[in-house]
Amino acid sequence: MGQQKIVVPYITTRDGEELGIGSMLRADPARGLYYANEGPHDRDRRGALWARQGHNPRDNAGQPTGEPLYAKVHPSRQRETMYELRCQICCQELASRTSLGYLFLLERPDGGTEPGWPEGELTTHPPLCLPHAKTSVERCPPLRRGHVAVRVKLARLYGVWGLPYTTGQDGTLHPAHDDERPVGYHDPRIRWHLAAQLVRRLRGVTVIDLKAELAAAGLGR
Ligand SMILES: [Zn+2]
Repeated sequence: MGQQKIVVPYITTRDGEELGIGSMLRADPARGLYYANEGPHDRDRRGALWARQGHNPRDNAGQPTGEPLYAKVHPSRQRETMYELRCQICCQELASRTSLGYLFLLERPDGGTEPGWPEGELTTHPPLCLPHAKTSVERCPPLRRGHVAVRVKLARLYGVWGLPYTTGQDGTLHPAHDDERPVGYHDPRIRWHLAAQLVRRLRGVTVIDLKAELAAAGLGR
């Protein structure tokens, strides 16, 4: 099974993988959010609580099956690749790494960038192997609109991106759907966030010429 045939990112949600199945989300003033039926995989190693989403069966290549829902990232598959620094498209390869560090692709923000960007950037986009960096810049619409390829010496775990919840006067839980944002593991408010993606902070960032690297690796046109 040739890797070049895999073009649906591993982290993409597939049709039928339902979010929130059996979640039984609860809140406690001291503990924050928890599941009434919480299991060992519901929290990461730093204690953040994660959104639950179903998993479709895998194909022979180990990739999820079902129609891709490209705009939706699967929480546990994003967490797996970001935590282990595996390629977000194939998950089978570790991200490309050179003396300048791991390979990440970043969307160029609309409306310009701050001086020094992207040093210190918080990102939810897991890194890539070199062949799939090529695939991404060619086929991923947001990256085709504008991207920067970087190598990163230190990609430290920062926290999670997800939905904060509040408790109403009647005790019911409400998600703040318009307030999804990164929250650090150091921040006590993380107890009230339901994590959907793992966030790393990028330090020691070098902007690279991806085309030159691809050509040097025999992956140019
Ligand atoms: Zn890959």
